[in-house]
Amino acid sequence: MNRFDFKRVDSVQAAVTLLCEIEDSSVLAGGQTLIPTMKQGLSAPAALIDLGGISELREIRIEEDAIVVGAMCTHADVANSSSIRQHIPGLAHLAGQIGDAQVRNRGTIGGSIANNDPAADYPAACLGLDATILTDKRAIAADSFFLGLFETALDEGELITGVRFRHCRRSTYLKFRNPASRFAIVGVFVGRGKEGWRVAITGAGRDGVFRWRAAEEALNGDCRPQALEPLRLSIEEMLDDIHAKGDYRAHLIKVLACDAVEKLLR
Ligand SMILES: Cc1cc2nc3c(=O)[nH]c(=O)nc-3n(C[C@H](O)[C@H](O)[C@H](O)COP(=O)(O)OP(=O)(O)OC[C@H]3O[C@@H](n4cnc5c(N)ncnc54)[C@H](O)[C@@H]3O)c2cc1C
Repeated sequence: MNRFDFKRVDSVQAAVTLLCEIEDSSVLAGGQTLIPTMKQGLSAPAALIDLGGISELREIRIEEDAIVVGAMCTHADVANSSSIRQHIPGLAHLAGQIGDAQVRNRGTIGGSIANNDPAADYPAACLGLDATILTDKRAIAADSFFLGLFETALDEGELITGVRFRHCRRSTYLKFRNPASRFAIVGVFVGRGKEGWRVAITGAGRDGVFRWRAAEEALNGDCRPQALEPLRLSIEEMLDDIHAKGDYRAHLIKVLACDAVEKLLR
């Protein structure tokens, strides 16, 4: 690992100032991705700015019809929050399926969505729940945030401060995981909100997380799993790698989506 400076800060403003002042600096959240990439020499920041001392980023704030999850909330915080379990059960369930106990106690929601790994779980929840990503500068709709593999709408030096999720009691997440890494080979988030159904898929898309709009349309017309049966996903748009072929992923999406809808109707 290369030498680097380590800076601790206690406010968002201080973090953003250092991020702009120090060339090639990166913020450090749970370190579950950043530290391994530094160890492998794939990333060599000149300085790490540790967000761990900013208490406001660890808050889960309850609003009238939404919950704002601070960027430094760990996956375990989200999985164990009684408010999230009550109002957005699919989100709590998803967080409880990420990695193992160590990863869930270190990894953060902000780090996960900033990284936008094509097999990560939270991006599916953000799209499936029509979430809003909050940064130190603006609010970005999830639909405009995830731009491709490991790419997001974040500008240089922009910091995620939290994610706003509207209540969605009818929501769930089903994941077919890689048994070694526990990342999703396919993950399907299904939510039925005021504006209808949303179906978001992670792990399977060539361009990363995506909404399965044909499924949303079908379910808005007929909210039974059978409504998904005639649908076909384009195999050319599926990831095809050593973990699973594209046609297998397309098949899994449909199976998991049907199971998720059935679960929500029970
Ligand atoms: C063994 C293992 C298994 C895993 N399994 C899963 C899984 O099943 N599902 C899954 O979804 N994930 C999985 N992960 C990923 C993990 O859950 C973390 O979410 C992920 O590593 C990033 O979060 P972090 O807090 O560790 O971020 P870090 O590693 O600290 O940072 C990641 C990147 O995001 C940037 N960043 C961090 N916070 C912010 C912020 N607030 N604003 C802007 N940029 C920011 C950093 O600069 C860095 O570039 C796994 C990881 C490991 C090591």
